[in-house]
Amino acid sequence: MHPARVRIGPSPTGEPHVGTAYIALFNLAFARRSKGQFILRIEDTDQSRSKPEWEAQIMAGLKWLGLDWDEGPDVGGPHAPYRQSERLDIYKAHVQRLLAAGHAYRCFTTDEELAELREQQLARKETPRYDGRHRDLPAETVKKWMGEGKPSVVRMKVPRPGSSTVHDALRDPITFDHEQVDDQVIQKSDGFPTYHLANVVDDHLMGITHVIRGEEWISSTPKHVLLYEMFGWQPPTFVHMPLLLNPDGSKLSKRKSPVSILDYQQRGYLPKAVLNYLALLGTTMPDEREVFSFDELKDTIAFDRKRINVKGSKFDVDKLTWLNGKYLREIEDDETFVRALREQVFSEEKLRAMVPLFKERIDKFEDFVPNAAYFFSGDVELDPELLKPKKQTFKATQEILEKLVERIETQVDFSPEALEATTRAFADEVKWKGRDLFMPIRIALTGRKATPGLFEVMSVLGRALTRRRLRAAVAVLKHAAQQEQRAAQKAAKEAKKAKPNG
Ligand code: GLU
Repeated sequence: MHPARVRIGPSPTGEPHVGTAYIALFNLAFARRSKGQFILRIEDTDQSRSKPEWEAQIMAGLKWLGLDWDEGPDVGGPHAPYRQSERLDIYKAHVQRLLAAGHAYRCFTTDEELAELREQQLARKETPRYDGRHRDLPAETVKKWMGEGKPSVVRMKVPRPGSSTVHDALRDPITFDHEQVDDQVIQKSDGFPTYHLANVVDDHLMGITHVIRGEEWISSTPKHVLLYEMFGWQPPTFVHMPLLLNPDGSKLSKRKSPVSILDYQQRGYLPKAVLNYLALLGTTMPDEREVFSFDELKDTIAFDRKRINVKGSKFDVDKLTWLNGKYLREIEDDETFVRALREQVFSEEKLRAMVPLFKERIDKFEDFVPNAAYFFSGDVELDPELLKPKKQTFKATQEILEKLVERIETQVDFSPEALEATTRAFADEVKWKGRDLFMPIRIALTGRKATPGLFEVMSVLGRALTRRRLRAAVAVLKHAAQQEQRAAQKAAKEAKKAKPNG
């Protein structure tokens, strides 16, 4: 087996995702099996959504799981830099190369014009796409418009007629007619490359031999294959791994499943169990065993259809928990068990953060545990009546908390001050009085009416637990709203029955 060079290219636009860990695991196992390298490349070309804090969390999440890389932004390597925002000159030079060769062109169509085009196409029941209006602009026009400072993007000039074939290790070759392939933008008007260009250029320059990624990227692959062709490069071997799904069969999403690695870390799962579970989602062992180690995965990994179920796998938290229980009971020495408790449940850091919250509130240490219990448990008991402010309905409260979860999701700074500012701004926006909003949040987070300062509590709980408890409150309120609606319908029916007709 040749040493493989493989990579993951997460975008730092949110918390570390279990899908990233799942793909990282298969890449790492394959790299280790072939005695090759596993590379972490940060794909941060989306300037508005990428944040250094998310990058740091992604790295910490992967490291917690033991998914370490050989080359990356923190450890360097022969192809540094490994952060796309630091490679802009490389992409610009490659875009120039495509322009010069006639494989790409400048497009000056404005956003308004594109929106208009889209509307017209939709009205004609056509699939919206760019209509190629600037594909063959005369060189003088391009020069003139550029001179006038007209903003432009660069698009790839997909050869038409024509077709491209994607070869994937897990599928029959898939041929795409170029009539169906858009003239993809490869450089945005701000000079940044798009995902497609940066991804292909980096995979080539970094010597990537196998692109092992999630199936959601398969529809981009024809464009990538075309780019390899335009540059005259040999494409890597593509392996699109089965999608991870919610229990209802839709694509795994944070609305329906806990998808952040931090959720599992904070809940006290064992990295080994999480890795084992993620491996099971993608592959079966030759002897169909369900419990196996990273080394066993590495020694047997094979991207073939007998071993990999391309249909997609449901992410089942109960199964992961069952597996975790098995690993937990296997911890033989009590010292290790105690150490894990100390690190994951009663960490110094957490206890220290709690001191200012409870110092004023307790007179002796034995009061600490009952007062602070909600910091050490997963869920808290929730009474829908307590969650709902007097003048509000269950439904309205549910909707407000649901919106708030989304806000919290993107909150990078989790200090009490920042959380307070965000929550107050949110209250203004949804036109709720602060008082009316803070109580349901407090109940959702702690199950209690009286607690230390709400935002101090939220800050110590952290994003993962805050989100989890708010979501649990949303579920409880939703249930109460449905019951209330059913009761109202029943009452209306009965009132109608009781009323004699005409
Ligand atoms: N930036 C993409 C992501 O967020 C990389 C996809 C790929 O591996 O090509 O996953």
